[in-house]
Amino acid sequence: MTLKLRFNLIIFSFLLGAALPADAKRSRKKNKPKKEQTTQVVEQSPADIEQETKKIEAAQQKKKKFHVLVLLAEKELDDEQEWLLGAAKGFVLHDIQNDRQQVVLEDQKIAISTAHKLIYVNGKRSSKNSFALRSLKGHLAYGIKHYPGFFIVARDTKKAYLINVVDIEDYLLSVLSSEGWPGWPLEMNKVLAIACRSYVTSMVLEAQVQGRLYHVKSTNAHQTYRGVHNKGHLKEAIEQTRGIFLGHNEKPILAMFDACCGGVVPAKIAGVNFSKAPYLKRNYACKHCKRCKLYEWEASYNTYQLEEYFKEEIPSLKKLRDVIVTKKDPAGLVQRVSLKTPSRHLPISGKKIYSLLKNQIKSFYYSVSKKAHSIVFKGRGYGHHLGLCQWGAREMVRDGWDHKSILSYYYPGTTFMRLKP
Ligand SMILES: [Zn+2]
Repeated sequence: MTLKLRFNLIIFSFLLGAALPADAKRSRKKNKPKKEQTTQVVEQSPADIEQETKKIEAAQQKKKKFHVLVLLAEKELDDEQEWLLGAAKGFVLHDIQNDRQQVVLEDQKIAISTAHKLIYVNGKRSSKNSFALRSLKGHLAYGIKHYPGFFIVARDTKKAYLINVVDIEDYLLSVLSSEGWPGWPLEMNKVLAIACRSYVTSMVLEAQVQGRLYHVKSTNAHQTYRGVHNKGHLKEAIEQTRGIFLGHNEKPILAMFDACCGGVVPAKIAGVNFSKAPYLKRNYACKHCKRCKLYEWEASYNTYQLEEYFKEEIPSLKKLRDVIVTKKDPAGLVQRVSLKTPSRHLPISGKKIYSLLKNQIKSFYYSVSKKAHSIVFKGRGYGHHLGLCQWGAREMVRDGWDHKSILSYYYPGTTFMRLKP
């Protein structure tokens, strides 16, 4: 863990330097001798000094940009899979510890592989355990997606990692496109932008404490991130909320959200550590999502289909006759289920049922009934029932609520804070 933490700190010190644009770096170098030759400063006119000061301040602001380290891919070191990266005009490979050590790779595509616990670039062994890759011009590509910022390739003793280092606002612009819905109005996108900024800021702090090489995954395990897109209208929501996040006790909150809460009262959900996240303990039901399509759902299976879905988890399951819910928590979420056969009742958790039948079972709030040869699941909501209810919020915007009131409604006890450069 100490090693990892050190590595993370190295990345951050590197990032601070790397975040400076070329002209800012130049102005930093240019200013150095002036510090030593004070007479030159005296000879400058007040306007010159003011201009110079502004330049330095601008460079410092840019230097302190907030970056997110997003995990795009990871693999075991002995896995033969290659990562194919693209850059239209070629790459610049940087040493992470020493930004001045750079190598230009003129190839438009390069392959990153691992063997014998080492990293290879286009089949050539790298002497480094980690390095950064920038595009000479335009965005970098991994697979069919293009990404802002730059990449870090790194390894620890077991795995190799491909990480996208991206400015937090660029990251959020991408996330809004994946986690939102086309056609949502500006106010709704502002709700989501602040929730996602709070979530990722909280994950950045957590990663630093845990010494994780990256801050967030690019999948829906955290927030879905697919790099650059052409939905320019989302920029307005990012600009109008730039730097704003929700805090609790002066710290960013882990702002969870789901598509539709189904009217479940989060405070009654069992097994959630609300002392760690009191802002998720909403003790009133959201009624705003009632009008949305996802509020109620129904899924029907015949017993043979269910046996097929369950056979890997419960190989002994034969001749399924019925599915009976045996335990719910105070919020109404299913905790235990019994699979009834002619000879016995096989227990299974509500969460397992959800994960095995995820295509049609949308949440943990459901009842089960038998109709002829069919087993029918009827439920409410889409997701885990915690935090912001996206479609509820969408309806609130329609009813005239603004983004701040909506966020305060779904995350009680929070305050609005701003990332400070
Ligand atoms: Zn709701």
